[in-house]
Amino acid sequence: MRAVLMGPPGAGKGTQAKFLAQDAAVPQIATGDILRKAREEGTPLGKEAQSYMDRGALVPDAVVIGLIQQRLAEPDAAQGFLLDGFPRTVPQAEALDGLLAGLQSPLEDVLLIDVPAEAIVRRLSGRRTCPACGRPYHVESDPPPADGRCGSCGTELVTRPDDRPETVQERLKVYAESTAPLRDYYAAKGLLRVIDGLGAVEEVTARLQAALRG
Ligand code: AMP
Repeated sequence: MRAVLMGPPGAGKGTQAKFLAQDAAVPQIATGDILRKAREEGTPLGKEAQSYMDRGALVPDAVVIGLIQQRLAEPDAAQGFLLDGFPRTVPQAEALDGLLAGLQSPLEDVLLIDVPAEAIVRRLSGRRTCPACGRPYHVESDPPPADGRCGSCGTELVTRPDDRPETVQERLKVYAESTAPLRDYYAAKGLLRVIDGLGAVEEVTARLQAALRG
């Protein structure tokens, strides 16, 4: 599998990417997770990324393209990968095409999880995230354990700074302006499949899996 999972913030990309990647035994490569880890570790990359992330803006293309180039060169990505949250701009998509052409392993699938804007705001405001392992929860649809700690690793759950309501609005605007044009970019290449992202997590997973098989 060499696939990209796209969708607006809160579409369930992270949750679905975990299932799909596990199922296909390929790494889930999420630029958001890589950047958050760098931020927590206080590395130069993390410091540069922080101000963009906290206000819901995109980290500059050159930075994330560099990250992806390094990550795709790691041995586990040779057998395939699922990209989650990258590309987010047309220049990123063009850079990815160039990288994969160099590796003689072009993209096979681009899945877009489609969710209307009202549902997104509701989803993001109820989201709680494990800062250690990245596992997401939702106060309504996937409630965290009663002690407020991650069921997988026991770390105390948090609301991500970029899930605050004002930041969510900014992220939606950025998505509409910078990321939505990728829909046409990948449709023109015949790679795009749009999947309805409403409904139970398992239903959406099943739709995505059917699209990958089909
Ligand atoms: P995510 O977890 O995918 O929602 O990403 C969280 C934040 O990381 C985004 O709001 C951006 O600030 C930054 N980010 C993640 N992936 C990218 C990307 N491909 N291009 C630019 N910024 C990114």
